[in-house]
Amino acid sequence: MSTFKALVASKGETGTELAFRDFAEADLMEGDVTVRVTHSTVNYKDGLALTGRAPVVRRWPMIPGIDFAGRVESSEHPDFKPGDLVILNGWGTGETHLGAYAQKSRVKGDWLVPLPEGMNPDEAMAIGTAGYTAMLCVLALERYGLRPTDGPVVVTGAAGGVGSIAIALLAKAGWHVIASTGRAEEADYLKELGAAEIIDRAELSAPGRPLGKERWIAGVDAVGSHTLANLLSMTRYGGAIAACGLAQGLDLPASVAPFILRGVALLGIDSVMCPKPRRLEAWQRLASGLDRDKLALMTTLIPLADVPETGRAILDGKVRGRVVVEIG
Ligand code: NDP
Repeated sequence: MSTFKALVASKGETGTELAFRDFAEADLMEGDVTVRVTHSTVNYKDGLALTGRAPVVRRWPMIPGIDFAGRVESSEHPDFKPGDLVILNGWGTGETHLGAYAQKSRVKGDWLVPLPEGMNPDEAMAIGTAGYTAMLCVLALERYGLRPTDGPVVVTGAAGGVGSIAIALLAKAGWHVIASTGRAEEADYLKELGAAEIIDRAELSAPGRPLGKERWIAGVDAVGSHTLANLLSMTRYGGAIAACGLAQGLDLPASVAPFILRGVALLGIDSVMCPKPRRLEAWQRLASGLDRDKLALMTTLIPLADVPETGRAILDGKVRGRVVVEIG
């Protein structure tokens, strides 16, 4: 029987239990492409799945991991052949479909994106779902018609994965970036990524007024809750905030004042079920619009064995930038 190494999550009496074990290839789920996974990453959602802190996993046992890069081993899909390098983000991988923390994965070819030319699999996972989501946010702001000459952009959760990549992308595109962080000690790091100003996240995290002083024309929010409400209340007339995260909370204790008095827009960003054309656009832009030196600056490499511990650390806000998992 052919097996491969995997990190397997089971539902135990005390909650989610993790074990490294051999997994039978015959037990992989349905799909028309089998991929030799070379790299994955640890996103915030992976932290939630690994610890069981939120009901991300909806099938047991599960191989967690919501994204990977790797090489096609076998394919019955017309777009992919053995040897092709591919990326997968979302589509329920690591939630309802066996995921990325394993040497092999079998998925639908329709879920896969070809690795952009000039990008390595480890760079693709340094970007990962966090970076691809940051790109979706930037594309949404652009599609809304906002430009760097319109005014500053604010990025929350700045020292995290989505935040770090959003800063690098926006700065390279010419925006004046205001980075909001709870980690003052990361100011130099954020400036190296391209932040022009740093603000303390405490300025935004408490209950605020329906309308505040107009401070930015655009925003990328990875935090939600009061932070997102305050971001909206401080957005200039006609601006927009792209909201993708919930690091502070799932709630949105806001008023309609910014919408009806300043024409502000709230742009929702989902990476999991995002249609393929938009994914391809995002990955092409990531290939050309992200400085690789900055990507290296924000990336830490870990072995598969360190994934459980890193899952706990990311929920505690202790991970800076991005983490690449070498599957080996
Ligand atoms: P990270 O943990 O890397 O980044 C989150 C950052 O948010 C932290 O680094 C911290 O930044 C800040 N933060 C953490 N806790 C709080 C808090 N209580 N109050 C205010 N700020 C806080 O996670 P990711 O970048 O991987 O993901 C960010 C968010 O985006 C998550 O909520 C995730 O679920 C969501 N997400 C959504 C996607 C979608 O499809 N919509 C896809 C990918 C991610 P600092 O230390 O600088 O303050």
